[in-house]
Amino acid sequence: MHIILTTESLRLFEKELRTEQKTIGFVPTMGSLHDGHLSLIAKARENADAVVCSIFVNPTQFTDQRDFETYPDQLDSDLALLEAHGCHAAFVPTVDIIYPNGLIKEDYDPGLLGQVMEAKHRPGHFNGVIQVVRRLFECVNPDIAVFGEKDFQQLAVIRWMVKTFDSPVKIIGSPIIRDPDGLALSSRNILMSAEDRITALNLSRALNAIVKRPKNQSLIEAIDAQIHRLKGVSNLDLEYLEAADINTFEPLKSVDNPVNARLFIAAKVSKTRLIDNMLLI
Ligand code: AMP
Repeated sequence: MHIILTTESLRLFEKELRTEQKTIGFVPTMGSLHDGHLSLIAKARENADAVVCSIFVNPTQFTDQRDFETYPDQLDSDLALLEAHGCHAAFVPTVDIIYPNGLIKEDYDPGLLGQVMEAKHRPGHFNGVIQVVRRLFECVNPDIAVFGEKDFQQLAVIRWMVKTFDSPVKIIGSPIIRDPDGLALSSRNILMSAEDRITALNLSRALNAIVKRPKNQSLIEAIDAQIHRLKGVSNLDLEYLEAADINTFEPLKSVDNPVNARLFIAAKVSKTRLIDNMLLI
């Protein structure tokens, strides 16, 4: 596996692939890789000849400085995992390479997507995500890029970005990978104590309970019941639990048999912020 640190080396890597008429699949990450990330590498391998994975903790998408400073970093084991899973190149840029003109804020308006849930609770977050993914696409020049449904709203923002800026990159979504007990894998999970991890199971449990609600309970009643329950859980600070249309991101308030709807949750367990989502069937 190539370990690429500069845009010049990326160009050479790309040139070699292009002369062989090979396609490039791209998986952007912030490192501390787990099976969720590795599932994206596998999907990229299915959809392209060569796979580039970037590891870059993007400062412009953090709204909480502490979260940025404590974000886990395990580059050596990440590179070993990527190599073992058949990734062809790891792109590990510095902040100067991604932002040669400094950390200049950019402002995007993806409509409702930029106002609800994650956007509302992490103001400026998606501006940073769009900024970094545009720049990474410019560096890597991929044919396809794979993003996880774990960050479902982010995936929708990326689809908006590609459409709005006429990018030729094909975006592929990939399902959430969970631990056997239901906890969605996240790089931040290692920041939790054993006790916090048990508390964190409440997120996927709440989503499952709403999806499997009794027939005589409406969607809104089921959501309200879970909100009420979660508010009583100690060390868990619920930010939102709502259902939204997967295309428009309109909140679902009163529909009882939702189609194209998904549940979204965000909560802090002690100091660790977690998100999860689930298809409503
Ligand atoms: P991150 O390193 O957290 O920025 O995530 C990089 C990519 O991995 C994003 O597209 C995430 O949606 C995806 N990802 C993170 N966790 C999971 C998971 N549990 N299952 C599937 N994809 C994931």
